[in-house]
Amino acid sequence: MIATDNVHLHEIHKFGSMAERWWDPQGEFKTLHDINPLRLQFIEKYINLSGKRVIDVGCGGGILTEALARQGADATGIDLSEELIDVADLHGLETGVNAHYQKISAENMAAQQPHSFDAVTCMEMLEHVPDPAAIIDSCAAMVKPGGMVYFSTLNRQSKAYLLAIVAAEHVLQMLPKGTHDFKTFIKPSELCQSARQAGLQLQGLVGIEYNPFNKLFNLGKDVDVNYLAAFRRPE
Ligand code: SAH
Repeated sequence: MIATDNVHLHEIHKFGSMAERWWDPQGEFKTLHDINPLRLQFIEKYINLSGKRVIDVGCGGGILTEALARQGADATGIDLSEELIDVADLHGLETGVNAHYQKISAENMAAQQPHSFDAVTCMEMLEHVPDPAAIIDSCAAMVKPGGMVYFSTLNRQSKAYLLAIVAAEHVLQMLPKGTHDFKTFIKPSELCQSARQAGLQLQGLVGIEYNPFNKLFNLGKDVDVNYLAAFRRPE
């Protein structure tokens, strides 16, 4: 597969068409805003971000990229949606956060800047690409020896179908209908196998749990729906 093939253009258009509402904390991407502090907390368990070079792959409008930069990281976000890169850039200008953005694929960035980043994050993106293993390879290629790589995605379990699609998209309307396709969800064992094949070692796996009664997310043991994984590239 050549580098630029690993993209579903309909996914890029779907996300890009909602670009202007990306930063609305009550809008379509409310869930990303709500889980962001938890993602940051998980990332910082393994690395002190201050002064580190970090790349956020599939950054969207920059919700996580900005948070990384605010912790002192030299943060770059990459995405294939032009609209989202524009939104991310503009938002960074408005908030004065020093994050950089580039429209480039993970594969091309890995070819241009191999072993260049102290940490690579790739959140809620693997389930939207044709070949997630190739993205995992590229993330592994971008990180420096000893650096960290983080992924989050949805588990291919019936509970994820019920909660992330039926409940979140259709009943509670927390996400736009059609955001997710169950077939593309990835089991932790599959993610870990691809990461291992890319030369990464698992450091931690944690679930992002949702409590429908108080409408709050928390990190926990339940990886059946949405989960975060941390890997290290050995020295
Ligand atoms: N990572 C962000 C956004 C998640 S939404 C966050 O969690 O806050 C999924 C993002 O993946 C969208 O911005 C979409 O444009 C991007 N994306 C989908 N396929 C991609 C690809 N092949 N290369 C780069 N970005 C991609």
